[in-house]
Amino acid sequence: MQFGAHESIAGGVANAIERGKKATCDTIQIFNKSNSQWRAVKLKPDDIDRYFKLQEELGVSVATSHSSYLINIASPDPALNDKSYRSLKEEMERCNTLKIPNLVLHPGSHVGSGEEAGLDKVAEATNRLFDNLDNNQCTLLYEATAGQGTNLGYKFEHLAYLIDMVEDKDHIGVCLDSCHIFAAGYGITDPKDYKKTMKHFDDVVGLDRLRIFHINDSKQPFESKKDRHEHLGQGHIGIEAFGNIVNDKRLKNVPLILETPKGEDLQDDVENLRLLRSLVK
Ligand SMILES: [Zn+2]
Ligand SMILES: [Zn+2]
Repeated sequence: MQFGAHESIAGGVANAIERGKKATCDTIQIFNKSNSQWRAVKLKPDDIDRYFKLQEELGVSVATSHSSYLINIASPDPALNDKSYRSLKEEMERCNTLKIPNLVLHPGSHVGSGEEAGLDKVAEATNRLFDNLDNNQCTLLYEATAGQGTNLGYKFEHLAYLIDMVEDKDHIGVCLDSCHIFAAGYGITDPKDYKKTMKHFDDVVGLDRLRIFHINDSKQPFESKKDRHEHLGQGHIGIEAFGNIVNDKRLKNVPLILETPKGEDLQDDVENLRLLRSLVK
């Protein structure tokens, strides 16, 4: 199994690889641009060279990029929807430049237009995206969400609905997040609940679509619909859930990525990864 964490690209994308090494990651997730701004700073050729060289030297890969939180391709507002679409396209192009195999996307928020209308917008924008990318090698992953506000993606059925509507089936997949699905009401702590949840996921979406698993405990209780990440074993989910995940043989090719709180020295990542690896039987 591959274990990793989200690492910052502050100072350039190559720096994220060094941070990943320091945090004891086999693989990492990055934002390929600032996640809180629309504007993307152009990638510098020597930063890209160093980024590829360090991956070889340090043995740390990049499993996925995570798209900006500003993007909402479910939005009924044409201006915001178009801005979101263009930003997502740029992020996909950057993933291709950086040879990142996956890009995680929150399906978005319907802001009152209704779930079906929102999901239809997401599927329509996704199809337009794939039609307008040249030689795309990156898989877009719809992420399961906690279901806060009018966010889509808190039911496996939403993810399945989207995948069904996307024409380019070779470049579409799913990212699960332990905190999000727990907050959405899918039990994962008791082994029986975990088994039931994963069976339901397999029946509705298909385990073959699962490409990344975000590993976070939850500051908020079961079915809270709130997305607040906590250190492993210190939240409402509990450590047993993470044991269920790391010992699930069906997930052996799915990178497990932490998005837990941390300071600049990355010691929190080191500790959470040590704990996660120690659960492997
Ligand atoms: Zn996410
Ligand atoms: Zn989250």
